[in-house]
Amino acid sequence: MDLRELWKAALGEIKLNISKANFLTWFKNTSLIEQKEDIVYLGVPSSFVQEWLENKYHKNILQSLNHLDANIKKVKYIVTSNKESLEKIKKIKTDTRKEKISFSEEQLDFPQFSVDAETNLNPKYTFENFIVGANSELAHAAATAVTQNPGSKYNPLFIYGGVGLGKTHLLQAIGNQIKKDKKKFRIRYVPSERFTNDLVNAIVEQKMDKFKKSFRNLDLLLIDDVQFVAGKDKTQEELFHTFNTLYEKNKQIVFTSDRPPKAIPSIEERLRSRFEGGMIADISAPDFETRLAILQEKSKDFAQLISEDILHYIAQEIPHNVRELEGALNRVLAQARLKNHPPTLEETKSILASILSNARQYIPIKKVIKKVASFYDLSEEDLLSHSRKKEFVKPRQITMYILRDELKYSYSNIAEKLGKRDHTTIIHACKKIGEEVKKNPVFAQEIIILKNMLYDK
Ligand code: ADP
Ligand code: MG
Repeated sequence: MDLRELWKAALGEIKLNISKANFLTWFKNTSLIEQKEDIVYLGVPSSFVQEWLENKYHKNILQSLNHLDANIKKVKYIVTSNKESLEKIKKIKTDTRKEKISFSEEQLDFPQFSVDAETNLNPKYTFENFIVGANSELAHAAATAVTQNPGSKYNPLFIYGGVGLGKTHLLQAIGNQIKKDKKKFRIRYVPSERFTNDLVNAIVEQKMDKFKKSFRNLDLLLIDDVQFVAGKDKTQEELFHTFNTLYEKNKQIVFTSDRPPKAIPSIEERLRSRFEGGMIADISAPDFETRLAILQEKSKDFAQLISEDILHYIAQEIPHNVRELEGALNRVLAQARLKNHPPTLEETKSILASILSNARQYIPIKKVIKKVASFYDLSEEDLLSHSRKKEFVKPRQITMYILRDELKYSYSNIAEKLGKRDHTTIIHACKKIGEEVKKNPVFAQEIIILKNMLYDK
């Protein structure tokens, strides 16, 4: 690849990872000027742009280039309007070895995007690039309502749904939108595990006052994956008080979780009732049309590299998880850019073979047992035991149902692996759970979430 092609391909990747507005603003009129050993020199139109790219997008740029050409380990910026600096590169060209290298290799190990240090928000998640389908209509409507009137009607907003379905995206979109609309708002996005970590550190360092203040002074608090507070008493207590303080001041709180409040095990009742006290909205797996629309949105700038057939194929083959959908698309696009022509269906199939085997994977019974046990906060022994306790029986039956219904294991195989049961027990369980799924939408949702989790690493 020549430098022009290389940069075009890198831009393609960068574009996928940052907002369109930022992309257009900061990457306009940039070009690769020179590659020398492991350094590339990126020409930029002004020192202002240089500063932005260096501060905000350096990692994206380096990562994309490094993906395309593993030899590239450093990027340097040159203002192209500046004759002197251009002269300098020419010198550098002949003299690279003596050049002091300012970017270290460890910069290749980076979180992917430029997260705002104060709010913790990632600008790539916006409402503009979120595709609304029947699966996310309610959650999206509630999220937009929150941005229009934070702290009023839907407080708290509790969004739940399976892995990779857009919960974090929506949650952060709320933050990014409000940040734009209300400059003075103090906003914080925090995954619940991070809340726990910070709390623990504050206790150890005896800085509880500071910790409390930092959360209780906010105008908008966004807590991601709140199911992880299960079983963590101190976290729950602190979260409860934080919630109350904010709520009383009409400050907005939004939670996400992989399951509805009712299905979170080991949380205090008073916290559960807070979660349930506002608006609860779910996100489920997108249908085929929505998956296709998401693929179209994510590939809209690469229309010449990918045909509609291929998008159909990807949408069809990857039903469970938008993150995987995106991963598949990116992989196909990367190949297309490298080869510089749109892949055929056959090529696509082979590019995606490894992802697809994952998506439609053979999932070992052991893994299912592990996932179900952890979902219901049971030990694997209890799940597999012959105990008739209700809290064990139901998850056990669900395990059987999933093994049969989703993964198509034989009754006899399931009977054998689940503690040497009679295979009529399995048939009975599948029937019972199957009927409940049909009758009870909340339960059906729980099963979908659980199924989705099976496909997680
Ligand atoms: P979750 O938090 O539910 O596990 P994420 O919000 O991290 O899922 O979504 C996974 C990926 O899929 C993200 O890159 C996100 O931008 C993308 N995504 C999910 N849903 C949508 C959607 N409806 N429209 C556009 N992108 C989506
Ligand atoms: Mg998430």
